[in-house]
Amino acid sequence: MTTHNTSVLIIYTGGTIGMIQNTETGTLETFNFDHLHEHIPELKKTNCNIDAVQFDPPIDSSDIEPEAWGKIVSIISENYDKYNGFVILHGTDTMAFTASALSFMLENLGKPVILTGSQLPICMLRTDGRENLMTSIEIAAAQHPDGTPIVPEVCILFENRLMRGNRTTKFNADYFNAFRSFNYPALADAGIHIKYNFGVIHNTQPDMQLKPHYLLDRRVAVLKIFPGIHENVVAATLAIEGIKAVVLETFGSGNAPRRQWLLRLLREASQRGIVIVNVTQCCAGTVEMSRYKTGYELMQSGIISGYDITTESAITKLMFLLGHNYSPDEVRQRMLQPIAGEITVA
Ligand code: ASP
Repeated sequence: MTTHNTSVLIIYTGGTIGMIQNTETGTLETFNFDHLHEHIPELKKTNCNIDAVQFDPPIDSSDIEPEAWGKIVSIISENYDKYNGFVILHGTDTMAFTASALSFMLENLGKPVILTGSQLPICMLRTDGRENLMTSIEIAAAQHPDGTPIVPEVCILFENRLMRGNRTTKFNADYFNAFRSFNYPALADAGIHIKYNFGVIHNTQPDMQLKPHYLLDRRVAVLKIFPGIHENVVAATLAIEGIKAVVLETFGSGNAPRRQWLLRLLREASQRGIVIVNVTQCCAGTVEMSRYKTGYELMQSGIISGYDITTESAITKLMFLLGHNYSPDEVRQRMLQPIAGEITVA
């Protein structure tokens, strides 16, 4: 394993990690990444060449939109041949959405794209940002002895864990271990050494050309089922003008109340061409609609299983597929197949 003579491009989009304290006012502000080496002198100690580009202005990740994902894709695509890997610095709030979207938009990805950020700004004494950044750079540059990248995937590195990006969820707002991948094992654990879990890392076919995608259709909604949900809430969601797909967050292994009005509304919406994907509200586990009558009836209404997909991945995968103008049935078919390792199909 080596990182010698490699180069990594850092793309700073915004978020807490890139902030420093103004010595006069005491407020937190983003620093200019042209001066990256001044602020993080440890970068000189790495064996690889590091360049950085930044969003101008940097954005809090709560303001991220599909257009920003397109911008990241175009930066990666334009610089693809020049760098061995990419590190994206991003606010934590929507990092799981961005990582999921990029995993679909970067078809045939053969290089590491590592998203990271921090809970405390990089200027703070107890910051987690410095370690997250240094570890991400090391992983983005890491190669097998034959020169092929070790992790040619879109990932999130946080605290000491490298996770497949489209499997992640931000589950903790306060602690340093902010992300989890409940349904897929970590791709690497970063302790004293970085231990790669080679058996679960995606293998790319050599010589595949990166195929960037930019078209996303945001006519997607999320409907979370809860005990006592009113018919009008479901009816209004399914009647949103132009809506093309709905992520239905259900109980347990994909169950919903057995109300005739609910099944009728869902069936009629499916028949109108709205793609409805059943995703569990549980953090871990999978949808299995044939397990209980309550799930079985949903399946009979034309709803498709999201298996063990995260809501973040389901939303962005639907945006991606709808962006291709596929028919509702084609979108349904493709939701049932993994594109970038986002679901486990038994
Ligand atoms: N609100 C910030 C953001 O997501 C929080 C963070 O950076 O972690 O951009």
